[in-house]
Amino acid sequence: MTDVVEQRIAGLQAALAAHDLDAVILGPSADMLHLIGRKLPLTERFNAVMLRRTGRPTAIVPRLQAPLVEPLGGLLDIVVWEEDRDPMALAADWLDGARNVAVNGHLWSRFLIALQTRKPGVRFSDASAMTAALRLCKSADEIAGLDDLGRRFDAIWDAFFTSGRLVGVTERDVVGQIRTLVLDAGFDELSWCDVGSGPNGASPLHHHSERVIQPGDPVVIDFAGTRGGTYMDTCRTPVAGEPHPEFRAIYDIVAAAHDAGNAAVRPGVPAEAVDAAARKVIEDAGYGALFLHRLGHGLGLDAHEEPYIVRGNRLPLAPGMVFSNEPGIYVPDRWGVRIENIMVVTEDGLRSLNAATRALVSMS
Ligand code: ZN
Repeated sequence: MTDVVEQRIAGLQAALAAHDLDAVILGPSADMLHLIGRKLPLTERFNAVMLRRTGRPTAIVPRLQAPLVEPLGGLLDIVVWEEDRDPMALAADWLDGARNVAVNGHLWSRFLIALQTRKPGVRFSDASAMTAALRLCKSADEIAGLDDLGRRFDAIWDAFFTSGRLVGVTERDVVGQIRTLVLDAGFDELSWCDVGSGPNGASPLHHHSERVIQPGDPVVIDFAGTRGGTYMDTCRTPVAGEPHPEFRAIYDIVAAAHDAGNAAVRPGVPAEAVDAAARKVIEDAGYGALFLHRLGHGLGLDAHEEPYIVRGNRLPLAPGMVFSNEPGIYVPDRWGVRIENIMVVTEDGLRSLNAATRALVSMS
């Protein structure tokens, strides 16, 4: 752990030099977790990890959060503020002498505006692209961890397809079934579980409701969990009872789009080409207007991060990049279908971190 933190500090300091920055401020976020192995709470109490081109990082934390970072005392300086003090004065003091300072996306605007007001001579910029680049290609250890989460998700889907219930239960009840399986599989949390049955499935991010699932309803089930700060995220669309032939037809189109996306992946291919390859299958089948979102998103310490698999993203794929492949078709007032697996780019193509069946599953 210590070695990893030291490497990451050195990597971020090299990036600061390359971008001609004097310092970076990381609010509570995946960037902070990546750098120091801890993510502090994102609340109204200011906390941040700040780093200059040389030296140790400084964590500025309220007294009640100090125990969360004290074990890292050998790696970073800890500045604690009491509840009746103004932490922005401490942050402004830390910035003395700095002129170009990058701030990541998770520092609340009121904290940034307070710093801008106190430090009119400092030029603040967005650190997001710089920090995303450092997290873009996962290490072998990170991929091993994601593989483990993928296998846990496979077991969850297998258990759900075998023993779960759809017919006659509510969407909310399905969330409860998934939550139990996810927590029993060793995840720290169910980050979300969207369950869209029948016509509700036509809204890609329908959360869930008290709707009772009817025989013949397809059910879009998309859930994510975290374990040790790392996300896993998949989607399947089983059917309650027997599928309608028209639904089976669009299911097959989405499955073919998923396959076409996978077939397009290899190092050097721009991210947008993978989206285009999957989208073409759906467009050629006449459903292009009903595929309402990008093909995928990166995943790791954030549920959604670079690389985004979307038109306009020319980023060349490289080994170690991890992202979702999740085409969908959403037919208003009828149903939706989405199939999502997480992929890792390899030297010669890709590997799926998920192996749960992608065939159309009928459930009782
Ligand atoms: Zn996803």
